[in-house]
Amino acid sequence: MSLHILISGAGISGLVCAIALAKSGNKVSIFDKSTEFLDIGAGIQQASNAMQIHTALGISEKIKSFSCEPESIDFYDLSTSKKLFSSKLLGTHENRYGYKYLHIHRSDLHRTLLDELKKYNINIYLKSNINSYMNTKKGVSIEINGKTFNGDVLVGADGINSAVRKNMNGPESPKFTGYAAWRGLIKTNKLPHNLIPLAANNWLGEDKHIVSYYVKNGEYINFVAVTKYDEWLPHDWKIEGSISKMRDCFKNADSRVQILLQNCHKCYLWGIFDNPPLDNWNDEYVTLIGDAAHPMMPFLAQGASVAMEDSWVLAHFLNKYSKDVKLGLKQYQKARLKKANLIQYLSKQNADLYHMRPSLKKWIRDCQFNIATKIPAVLTTKYDKIFGSNVVLNYPINFE
Ligand SMILES: Cc1cc2nc3c(=O)[nH]c(=O)nc-3n(C[C@H](O)[C@H](O)[C@H](O)COP(=O)(O)OP(=O)(O)OC[C@H]3O[C@@H](n4cnc5c(N)ncnc54)[C@H](O)[C@@H]3O)c2cc1C
Repeated sequence: MSLHILISGAGISGLVCAIALAKSGNKVSIFDKSTEFLDIGAGIQQASNAMQIHTALGISEKIKSFSCEPESIDFYDLSTSKKLFSSKLLGTHENRYGYKYLHIHRSDLHRTLLDELKKYNINIYLKSNINSYMNTKKGVSIEINGKTFNGDVLVGADGINSAVRKNMNGPESPKFTGYAAWRGLIKTNKLPHNLIPLAANNWLGEDKHIVSYYVKNGEYINFVAVTKYDEWLPHDWKIEGSISKMRDCFKNADSRVQILLQNCHKCYLWGIFDNPPLDNWNDEYVTLIGDAAHPMMPFLAQGASVAMEDSWVLAHFLNKYSKDVKLGLKQYQKARLKKANLIQYLSKQNADLYHMRPSLKKWIRDCQFNIATKIPAVLTTKYDKIFGSNVVLNYPINFE
């Protein structure tokens, strides 16, 4: 039976959900409050759990065409430049989990999904702010700009400040963590040759760290530099930051980091927020996916990937239980909540691990990094929990 699904939010999770549902024969209407889609955001790391979904949706070749494949993931001490940990990714990740580990730019992924969307029965409405919903006897109804839309299910894919979540669980607000993420893109040919290794490079310092890697087929180098920030900052991708303030935060850093930041002439500043995990994502005919359900701090690079997994699994259960969608939503939550909340917790835990001051704890951390470099299997159990699940195999969707 074909359903009509309403989706609030055309970010990564909303678009993947829309495509998976429309490709399997459902009608989808997707609403976003934005007036237009801008080329915003920065790099996103796509591990096997994301690549399996791109492959199943038929867009992996396009993704690969603008991606970069890192040779390894490396951690350095921000001030001494000492290499703390290195783990091979090229070949190794694919051999273990079946798919490559790639670096891309969010806007390239978003544009690819928007292009894919055009092939299906999907209505997309911009300037459509969904503030509330009403469950009815047979489904759900929303009102936008004076017009009523009825659907079998409403999916809240409206991000960390989700209005759908607030309607479901009361008016809680995400809390500012006191951390800011400075983001920038630099043309590779403006930097000394091979300054930044072809890797997922992480420099860890006291109360700060910086991550840098290649995107856009190697044409650009992306960085995200996280520091403590005293004033409240909005969670907005369009706010420009002060270049001199950013450079000042890293004035004693590894010379590669300093050269990188010296060559950045425009940066964006983004407030990092936290919302506690939920134990319920459903309200009759309404559910949550992605950051609306479990906003991730960006310290495990899994926000977009876990959001895509949610979208896929939700589409599977809505197809499977199209005659009883409330049961479908329950099954979706049962399949996803534990893993998503675990990754949300692990992402938060990495903030402590990455930002340690000189202490016994830091010394122990560095020893553990040392052991894990020599015996990679030490970390395999942790990473298997994240990358090892194959939602495409476990929750199949029949595409027409
Ligand atoms: C603009 C932007 C840029 C990002 N860039 C990066 C990045 O560079 N690197 C990275 O790792 N992560 C980035 N993220 C976060 C990452 O993409 C998310 O963690 C992940 O993809 C989860 O996505 P989501 O679709 O659940 O939520 P989001 O990506 O937050 O998307 C939510 C969507 O819902 C819309 N929306 C919000 N409220 C309403 C409402 N009331 N009614 C209708 N629509 C609404 C928003 O306009 C947005 O399009 C970015 C997020 C955004 C919004």
